[in-house]
Amino acid sequence: MASSLRFRGAASGLRYWSRRQRPAATSLAAVCSRSMASKTPVGFIGLGNMGNPMAKNLMKHGYPLIIYDVFPDACKEFQDAGEQVVSSPADVAEKADRIITMLPTSINAIEAYSGANGILKKVKKGSLLIDSSTIDPAISKELAKEAEKMGAVFMDAPVSGGVGAARSGNLTFMVGGVEDEFAAAQELLGCMGSNVVYCGAVGTGQAAKICNNMLLAISMIGTAETMNLGIRLGLDPKLLAKILNMSSGRCWSSDSYNPVPGVMDGVPSANNYQGGFGTTLMAKDLGLAQDSATSTKSPILLGSQAHQIYRMMCAKGYSKKDFSSVFQFLREEETF
Ligand code: NAD
Repeated sequence: MASSLRFRGAASGLRYWSRRQRPAATSLAAVCSRSMASKTPVGFIGLGNMGNPMAKNLMKHGYPLIIYDVFPDACKEFQDAGEQVVSSPADVAEKADRIITMLPTSINAIEAYSGANGILKKVKKGSLLIDSSTIDPAISKELAKEAEKMGAVFMDAPVSGGVGAARSGNLTFMVGGVEDEFAAAQELLGCMGSNVVYCGAVGTGQAAKICNNMLLAISMIGTAETMNLGIRLGLDPKLLAKILNMSSGRCWSSDSYNPVPGVMDGVPSANNYQGGFGTTLMAKDLGLAQDSATSTKSPILLGSQAHQIYRMMCAKGYSKKDFSSVFQFLREEETF
């Protein structure tokens, strides 16, 4: 269903697909035979918090899966559901010519693609490799070059949306890579996301993702600081949140993911900061923003500060908690 919906944003030059849009007919002439074989097996590597529900959405759309994760327990429920579990990324590449990876860091992606038993050891010519991990854009470019040498296509397609959106199939994918292959990538990504946006050459998907997360980190810290100050000034947190959300201070961190326990239901702050987007992952993304800012000589004064705050939180035992636990971290800093 979703795979048949495509939209090209002509006026803006933005190449964008959304389930909310009626599709204009898009030529598939540029798409090679690999992507036309729509229900052939798809490889999926990295079945963690995000990869697990994403892979399940591919299953719901009828794609047989070839599965691998370094942590064997992560594969068990897919094996029980009849999917094929193999013992290395290279084995995935031997059995599938479309592969999605969803791994924690750049190092893990290098291992999965270029390691001794990596995808590129056995990749078939013409294969489409889509990396949805959030990693360094420079590494995405390197992996794309290595894939090209093997006759395969690598695209970066990091996501925004978190575990809830991964479950409901409402992720936003930011895609970088050869434009002619975008339609082939959309066919799979549209099963897992409601927005699939073409950003440009390989690495630009990561660039968009890193910029978004730097802003998210800054706005979350700002929301937490503001809520903490208001509470210490004697305001009721729910009332303060309500006022912010009808005023110019409103942002996603205040109105959809408020960091103060008791203000909202169904968010990590309502559940002792369990689930959601881990502080370690946010610190990692801010490290990527810091590296990118250094290499492009861009000033990121607040982004750098946010990086330090999230690193400090990891060192102080918050690494496994959701990144909105910065509110709890500030509350506990009585000496400020
Ligand atoms: P996770 O740690 O829960 O899952 C990663 C999985 O990859 C684990 O099961 C791990 O065993 C596996 N893995 C690690 N190295 C591997 C390797 N070399 N080969 C095979 N499997 C390997 O992480 P996650 O929360 O699913 O995040 C994945 C990526 O998505 C990260 O880059 C993260 O920044 C990004 N992301 C996460 C969220 C979120 O809310 N969790 C939101 C947006 C983007």
